[in-house]
Amino acid sequence: TGSGLIVSFGEMLIDFVPTVSGVSLAEAPGFVKAPGGAPANVAIAVSRLGGKAAFVGKLGDDEFGRMLAGILKENGVDGRGITFDQGARTALAFVTLRSDGDREFMFYRNPSADMLLKPEELDLELIRSAKVFHYGSISLIVEPCRSAHLKAMKEARDAGALLSYDPNLRLPLWPSPEVAREQIMSIWDEADLVKVSDVELEFLTGSDKIDDASAMSLWRPNFKLLLVTLGEKGCKYYTKNFHGQVEAFHVNTVDTTGAGDSFVGALLCKMVDDQSILEDEPRLRRVLKFANACGAITTIKKGAIPALPNEAEVLSLLNG
Ligand code: ADP
Repeated sequence: TGSGLIVSFGEMLIDFVPTVSGVSLAEAPGFVKAPGGAPANVAIAVSRLGGKAAFVGKLGDDEFGRMLAGILKENGVDGRGITFDQGARTALAFVTLRSDGDREFMFYRNPSADMLLKPEELDLELIRSAKVFHYGSISLIVEPCRSAHLKAMKEARDAGALLSYDPNLRLPLWPSPEVAREQIMSIWDEADLVKVSDVELEFLTGSDKIDDASAMSLWRPNFKLLLVTLGEKGCKYYTKNFHGQVEAFHVNTVDTTGAGDSFVGALLCKMVDDQSILEDEPRLRRVLKFANACGAITTIKKGAIPALPNEAEVLSLLNG
């Protein structure tokens, strides 16, 4: 695990998850409060693996915002970049667990505090000290957080950070699928490293084919690495010089929430100090095997944050 700072930018929220599947939250006998938000999950994934992580984003100045800031702190994530909005409340997601295991979301975004981060509220010193700047959520889509997002990206890049992007599309896409796609594609060129899931690949290409040609249609000249995660089939990787697939681990999956964030956190930890991994296929494959192991372990337990592994757990799956 590297020692360079990984700054993760975007939303953090609380999922209200029913204790049973097949019914809506309102009909469920009970629910649990599960902290999440992809960029926050990535920051905690990095920290749990022994890496150096900071989170930049906005929370409501309410009980939920304080709870989330506390969770980042408990997990060793630098919270200097958190701003609290005095008016709007922390983002919330109300989840329905469908009988087929998929999730449906209804969001409290009225607007929520995360969407109201302004460019002038950014901790630029923290952002400029990033070796990797990771992002991807609703913050790219709506103002004023889109402007804050673009400014943070520029500051990080100008200071020499590698930019890592995961679009993290959670349905329903807000404010509409067309707007979401347009805003995402408008900055598609700017990342060094991009990770999409198979579902996002379909959405972004507008085709239901998941093959090398459709993945390569998303490739841009300045990319260093494009990844497509395939759940229990592992991941595909594409670079300028080589591409291939790394198989997943077989585990007893109970809940896949956070698997992609765990995968990304692991990858960033392993390359933050040494980007030459991206040009060396055997070493990259070893790192992706490690990231697949992290993703797999995250599916063994319920929830995202409680299921993120430490390095010893990953090594035990890799060596076992
Ligand atoms: P996302 O959460 O972005 O949709 P995936 O669900 O594809 O991403 O998960 C990311 C990685 O986690 C996968 O590439 C895989 O290595 C691992 N993973 C996810 N689901 C499983 C599973 N059911 N069994 C084993 N590994 C899994």
